[in-house]
Amino acid sequence: MENCNRPAGAFSGETLSKSVYIHIPFCVRKCAYCDFTSFPGCEGRIGEYVDALCEEIQLSKNFFPGNGNLVDVVPASEKTSDTALSTIYFGGGTPSLLSPEMVEKILEKLRDVFGISDACEITLEANPGTIDEEKLRAFKNAGVNRLSLGIQSLCDPVLKTLGRIHDSEAGKKAILASKSAGFSNLSCDMMLGIPGQTMEDVRSTLQFFLENKVPHVSLYSLILEEGTPMFETYQGDIEKFVSQEQDRAMYHEVVNTLKEQGFFHYEISNMSLPGYESRHNLMYWRAEEYYAFGLGAHYYLQGERGTHKAETVDEYIATLRKEDIRKEDIYEVEERISEEDQKKEFMMLGFRTGSGVKEQDFEKRFGVKMESEFAEEIRREQKAGLIEHIDGSYRLTDKGFDLANQVFSDYI
Ligand code: SF4
Repeated sequence: MENCNRPAGAFSGETLSKSVYIHIPFCVRKCAYCDFTSFPGCEGRIGEYVDALCEEIQLSKNFFPGNGNLVDVVPASEKTSDTALSTIYFGGGTPSLLSPEMVEKILEKLRDVFGISDACEITLEANPGTIDEEKLRAFKNAGVNRLSLGIQSLCDPVLKTLGRIHDSEAGKKAILASKSAGFSNLSCDMMLGIPGQTMEDVRSTLQFFLENKVPHVSLYSLILEEGTPMFETYQGDIEKFVSQEQDRAMYHEVVNTLKEQGFFHYEISNMSLPGYESRHNLMYWRAEEYYAFGLGAHYYLQGERGTHKAETVDEYIATLRKEDIRKEDIYEVEERISEEDQKKEFMMLGFRTGSGVKEQDFEKRFGVKMESEFAEEIRREQKAGLIEHIDGSYRLTDKGFDLANQVFSDYI
């Protein structure tokens, strides 16, 4: 991963963010558990949304001049891998509702404004119910080189409970089509702790992934979110929901099986074969800064976290169509991260990863030793068997992975 060792005080604008998140807030239908910002039935507006998105990308060089300095002075043809983007992530919503031409248009705009390095990782989240091999090939030709498939499960009753638009057959076809379309860098989401889900369902889903050489798996536990149809169904009948023990047993089953097959547990919720880690997500866990474009996207730039003011697709498009747009018309600053908080965040995010927090990285970034800043916390976590010290890094033990929230709470 490039740019992981940032010098102390580097949040003041003298470094260049090299990652971009693009939010596509459209879905065919709302899943039963979903509380993300996504709008079903608005596909007719995707074209206008993409135009607004391109306008926002264009404007960003004025709004984040510390990051845009190189954008302004380096012509596109002269951008090098030092200044160009190294990761781009299309998340949603359902980014696979975009046409390949729209993806190409957005990438062209990013290339124009920031440059895109030859080795840039370009990920697109895809819903199995919205793709076929031909569309996947076209995404690949447009520049996408990593796919993240929202499979969740390959068991029909479970998919029905989740309210997904696809069935197990479509999920399997999506994996095979991705492979045939040439996506060797492929990730599949897998959800655990779903009412009615059995260990056998989990094993058979995993088996299909392994048989078809899926090199990256993201694991999520279903969370009952207030305001969702699933919350309404289960709030008065919580016993029917999967117990924490069952959920943990499923998680351990997946983690152990994948480890036996050579996967590295490189982050609490993510496992991959060597070389298939998500570089974009590693950027988040290394507390790097990043641009974020689109309605529901949150950025982290120049020590500032912010979100988009617009709450609907209409509002977003209308804002970006205005003349003389100011930064405050588009964004709402959520917080400015103090140096103290940056250190804590660096620890907390680092502990999410399998390689942990490297002492050298901390010192390089903040100019002080990690042990002197967090002596008490480190001693307590080591004593409790939650973290261990190996080769100059502190990382979670197996027990620590299970009780990670206990460690994270020390850095909040
Ligand atoms: S596909 Fe994803 S974003 Fe869309 S409704 Fe389902 S869970 Fe939410």
